[in-house]
Amino acid sequence: MRWRALILDWNGTVLDDLPVVYGSVIEIFRAYGLPPPSLQSYKEEITADFIQFYCGHGIPKPKNEAELNTLRTTLNQIRKHYFLKHWNEVKVRPGTRELLILAQKTGMQTAIVSAEVEEVLEKRLFDFALTDLFDRVEGNAWDKERALVNTFDFFGLKAEETVYIDDTFDGLTAANNVGAGTIGFTDGYNTEERIRAAKPNFPNGTLSKIDSMQQVIAIIKHVNWGV
Ligand SMILES: [Mg+2]
Repeated sequence: MRWRALILDWNGTVLDDLPVVYGSVIEIFRAYGLPPPSLQSYKEEITADFIQFYCGHGIPKPKNEAELNTLRTTLNQIRKHYFLKHWNEVKVRPGTRELLILAQKTGMQTAIVSAEVEEVLEKRLFDFALTDLFDRVEGNAWDKERALVNTFDFFGLKAEETVYIDDTFDGLTAANNVGAGTIGFTDGYNTEERIRAAKPNFPNGTLSKIDSMQQVIAIIKHVNWGV
């Protein structure tokens, strides 16, 4: 079996944005006059249902649907404001371009599947001059299982002919559920323990962490050409 499509998560995987994300977490707790949880607890606890994390660390729990919506809006506003202020501090991981060029040269399709707002994603890709290196970009992918299946269908490939790279338990679990190959990136939003708990194909027994694009390149060469 050879991987014929390289599918990448964006935030925390290609985009090294955890420092800014954690900065926004500190900002939110500051706004509520609360001490922020450590980066380690953030990486251990954060899930797509982010309200749980904030309320678990002292932000008053909403009592009904209306309060929940208000809280969600407030947190998103603080975060958005902080992100815009720190927009230029975020970088793409070194080796990303090399990875994508390798994929294209060897006939692999390339795609992004990301929960990021699609317009933000398109702007980032343009700013980093990466737009032309992707055959398909799917943003607003709250439901990663569905977005991944859409991507397989778009390329006319079976799930097992694709590999998905993600930095979270949730993203890797979604990819495992739909049958894609998986590489867990261990230098992103979640701890190495949570990445391993999702049981990705890589890291595995011999390779304990994957924290650079060079390692991703080595895995793809190994799987596709046995080198
Ligand atoms: Mg991510």
